[in-house]
Amino acid sequence: ALVCELLIPDLVQLHWLAFLTLPYHIVLLSLLLGMLSLLLFCLVFLPITQKVDLGLLKSLNRLSSWEEANRHISLNPDLKRHYLYSAIAGFIQTQQYRENRLLALTKKDFLTTFETQKGWEVRLNELLSQPDISFDVIAVRINNLRVINDMYGFHNGDNCIKAIADRLSTMSGRGIRMDSGDLLWLSSAKLARSAVSEITKSLVQPVSSSGMNITLDVRIGIIACPAEADNSEALFRRAWLTLEEASRYRQVTRRYNNELDQSYLRRLLIIAELESVFNGRESELALYYQPKINLMSGKVEAAEALIRWNNPVLGQVSPDEFIKLAEQTGLLSKLSFWVISQAVMDLMDFRQRNIPIHIAVNVSAEDIADKKLLDHAVGSLSKAGLLPCLLSFELTESQLVENPERAIASLEAFRSHGFKIAVDDFGTGYSSLAYLKRLPVDELKIDKSFVLQLDSQPEDQSIVQTILTLAERFNLSVVAEGVEVSQSLSLLREWGCHWAQGYLVSRPLPKCQFIEWLSSSDSVAWQKTCFQAQSVDDIHQAANPQAPRDR
Ligand code: C2E
Ligand code: CA
Ligand code: CA
Repeated sequence: ALVCELLIPDLVQLHWLAFLTLPYHIVLLSLLLGMLSLLLFCLVFLPITQKVDLGLLKSLNRLSSWEEANRHISLNPDLKRHYLYSAIAGFIQTQQYRENRLLALTKKDFLTTFETQKGWEVRLNELLSQPDISFDVIAVRINNLRVINDMYGFHNGDNCIKAIADRLSTMSGRGIRMDSGDLLWLSSAKLARSAVSEITKSLVQPVSSSGMNITLDVRIGIIACPAEADNSEALFRRAWLTLEEASRYRQVTRRYNNELDQSYLRRLLIIAELESVFNGRESELALYYQPKINLMSGKVEAAEALIRWNNPVLGQVSPDEFIKLAEQTGLLSKLSFWVISQAVMDLMDFRQRNIPIHIAVNVSAEDIADKKLLDHAVGSLSKAGLLPCLLSFELTESQLVENPERAIASLEAFRSHGFKIAVDDFGTGYSSLAYLKRLPVDELKIDKSFVLQLDSQPEDQSIVQTILTLAERFNLSVVAEGVEVSQSLSLLREWGCHWAQGYLVSRPLPKCQFIEWLSSSDSVAWQKTCFQAQSVDDIHQAANPQAPRDR
């Protein structure tokens, strides 16, 4: 600054002297050019500068006025400091004003006018720490929002969220829009049972938007505060957990309870342990085999491979528990690769022992859409010198119904290689007749819920008979799973069912025990008795001589 102060006056003087010695037309030309530049400056820069934040300009002005003062007046150090402080203070003030405005924007959700999760965090903690406070929180999720967005567009999806927020706002309290998109309503007081059922009734109503009536699949969670959540973090987590649990059990309304936390922690542990299984601890996994009896020949010609997981921390974990989690966390594909490799190795072992048996493995819709998994199955079998018809795939009806077009294309790819496909848990997925006709499958597995009490439930008997007629029409073979009692087996044979699988025949067994069972008199007895016109109780008795006569 000092150098500038010293140099500038001299430079200006030099410039004017030089200017006076120039011819007048050069002077005129320079003036003209000067005016043109001024005009250009006004046209181009003024509109831009007008847009600059006024507060910021003020601060800059203060800064420049301080510079001016500093340049022309020899200020005393105190005055200099004063100018400097006020300029900086002004600048900081402007920045704070902008930050506050941004914060206000992030605290409000424009769609619902509810406050955001971030905006409420601190105040919620203050509220929950007040003595004698007691209120209920309603958590709401539109479960089918993705489908609504896909089918009707985001605008109508937004209208549904807005409608839910409006319905909640009819009660006294305050709303929060969670980062996840869920809504929370902090009601002013405790909600009586009747109030909960009233609000539930109103929340599940369809939303009319753009001339359409949109059906909502709403989940509602109720959390009592502060008894069940005494800080914002606990409330947000438990609201999420309650909604998850409501979805899992297909409930519209669910109240939070302590067990949800336990099951949440267990799920986290299962996921963590499962991840490490695929980092070198595959020995914790095993394939068990459950025989399928051919009811025409009486022979055990096939078996279903069922996974078992024995973990040092968790003990035996049921596949019903970890398969769903593996699917949600993207680990199922690794598991299915392992199952196929193991099943092919076991098939080789069976062949070396002269055991002619087919193996069925369970797969998901994601799995069959994965070309790498198909290549893996084809490659493993050809390396082992085995035919693809020895391996079949079971896929649940509900997964097939979810995305039929994709499923059909994937199934065709599998079948083109000679693999057989079975529709698992048939009867629970509500597939239509027209759809079933188009499915490239070979077998239907009647869900065990229709078979377990087949001997005593007339409705189950009608369902099973209908499925058998249907299958005959479409030329599909049928497996009845969950055969526990001999009377049910007798009925199934009478109605022409092809295969039976269930505890009556055998529970799933580890491979070595399965091999022993196959060579024991138990399995041979099935063959003998299936051809003899005996009562099924005799069949059972022949197969399990030590077992009590009725189960
Ligand atoms: P699923 O495919 O429907 O398998 C049949 C289940 O019913 C098996 O349970 C089996 O043990 C059981 N079961 C068989 N006979 C009877 C009976 O007579 N009575 C009763 N009450 N149950 C019977 P598990 O082994 O616990 O498997 C449960 C489910 O886990 C399977 O249902 C399947 O969906 C899944 N799963 C099992 N292994 C695998 C696998 O390797 N991969 C995949 N993706 N899923 C698997
Ligand atoms: Ca199955
Ligand atoms: Ca099944």
